[in-house]
Amino acid sequence: MTQAIETQSATATATALKCKECGAEYELQAKHVCDCCFGPLEVKYDYNAIRRTVTRQTIEAGPNSIWRYRSFLPVATDNVIDVGTGMTPLVKSHRLARAWA
Ligand SMILES: [Zn+2]
Repeated sequence: MTQAIETQSATATATALKCKECGAEYELQAKHVCDCCFGPLEVKYDYNAIRRTVTRQTIEAGPNSIWRYRSFLPVATDNVIDVGTGMTPLVKSHRLARAWA
């Protein structure tokens, strides 16, 4: 199911992308590798904003998809499309568990 959804992007908590190797910072954009050293980029968060705006209840009130975690996704647009990604259930595999016991 694909649908446009409303999310709480006004309270987005991602502030920048930061290189895990050299510490270079980049504005939020579709980028995963550092221009300086090819190190991986990680999302830098405003943890005070997270404490102020994100609770278990706000997450549970979100859509039944990955957009439930919108406050933690470095997406700069308010126009997001939900194609139902996420919420994959964990299913116990008894035969696999026995094989590794
Ligand atoms: Zn770097």
